[in-house]
Amino acid sequence: MSNTNGHSANGGNPVENVIIIGSGPAGFTAGLYAARANLAPLLITGNDYGGQVSITYDIENYPGFPESLSGPELVEKFKEQAEKFGTRVEFDYVNEILVDRHPFVVRTSGGAEYLTRSIVVSTGARPRYLEIPGEKEFTGKGVSYCATCDGFFFRGKDVLVVGGGDSAAEEALFLTRYASRVRILHRRDKLRASKILQDRVFANGKIEMVWNTIPVEIVGEGGAVTGVKTRDTVTGEEGLLKTDGVFVFIGHLPNNDLFPGKLEMDEDGHLITDRHMRTNVPGVFAAGEIQDKVFKQVATSVGQGCAAAMATTRFLEDLHAGHQVDWSADPREFAAPRAAVAAL
Ligand SMILES: Cc1cc2nc3c(=O)[nH]c(=O)nc-3n(C[C@H](O)[C@H](O)[C@H](O)COP(=O)(O)OP(=O)(O)OC[C@H]3O[C@@H](n4cnc5c(N)ncnc54)[C@H](O)[C@@H]3O)c2cc1C
Repeated sequence: MSNTNGHSANGGNPVENVIIIGSGPAGFTAGLYAARANLAPLLITGNDYGGQVSITYDIENYPGFPESLSGPELVEKFKEQAEKFGTRVEFDYVNEILVDRHPFVVRTSGGAEYLTRSIVVSTGARPRYLEIPGEKEFTGKGVSYCATCDGFFFRGKDVLVVGGGDSAAEEALFLTRYASRVRILHRRDKLRASKILQDRVFANGKIEMVWNTIPVEIVGEGGAVTGVKTRDTVTGEEGLLKTDGVFVFIGHLPNNDLFPGKLEMDEDGHLITDRHMRTNVPGVFAAGEIQDKVFKQVATSVGQGCAAAMATTRFLEDLHAGHQVDWSADPREFAAPRAAVAAL
């Protein structure tokens, strides 16, 4: 293993130590840590440079920035810090990985083909969009996909939540901490959310249900949302609901096109990793929202990117030293402690 420029000869081809796929918080953090471990990582940005952060208007909950900063500003800081220590950033998109051989092969839509000893997958996820007029225009100006991130801005205001599953119910409950009224717009006449969440929603005096209704346009004035045009899914009747904010929770889609048949995924299409961010293939790690469907924050994605790079460094050290790589389960993965807590 080279620790100076990330390349070494292997059958005449340069072999990367680690390729990081994705330029969101998890990817850049993995780059920073891998670079500081002298691995000269190669980070391939994908088409959405900076990931979801780059479409975030203001980030107020990322530690270290009490004055808050815009998403694009944070992305530039992530990149600057990762590059400062030697991360090489390529603006390209990975369209194929081959992980049934070692070194692994990574191919891009720009026509590059890389060999690499390890991979950190940080391809993230994306919210499912409504795809109605006004949605893009008002994203970050009243339209949000994250109550934890933006709920605070709606203190004492009226908000609409679109959706009917667990996320919509949970986020609506969370929003009642701030908003004066939370209406849940749902296309059907019953929620899909679990019974316990439904009970909490119906028992909450701040939440009202708007059944059999879909949003058809988000309207606003002076760069802020003022309402949502709606259609009744039964009668077809059109309406207008005045509101200050629209929170959309109609699904979250992991960016997993590269992985079917190659890496293990759960039923929702997230990569399965253990506490060491290891996938089922030795040498392939994953971090951020591609493997985390629970926390979905910049801070948690950064933490997972750091962990993945540290685990990758150890993997490469073992490989370089000729040690047998131990890919067996971490004993702390056992369900026992959780079961014991549940029994208390
Ligand atoms: C509108 C909005 C506002 C938010 N506000 C906040 C907030 O205020 N605070 C907060 O903590 N969190 C916020 N979040 C959540 C936060 O942005 C995410 O948790 C975080 O960005 C996830 O980081 P990630 O690195 O896992 O993936 P992502 O940010 O999703 O980045 C994924 C990266 O992978 C790349 N990629 C995908 N496929 C490929 C491929 N085949 N080849 C190469 N690259 C690929 C993409 O181009 C992208 O760069 C918000 C999310 C949204 C959508």
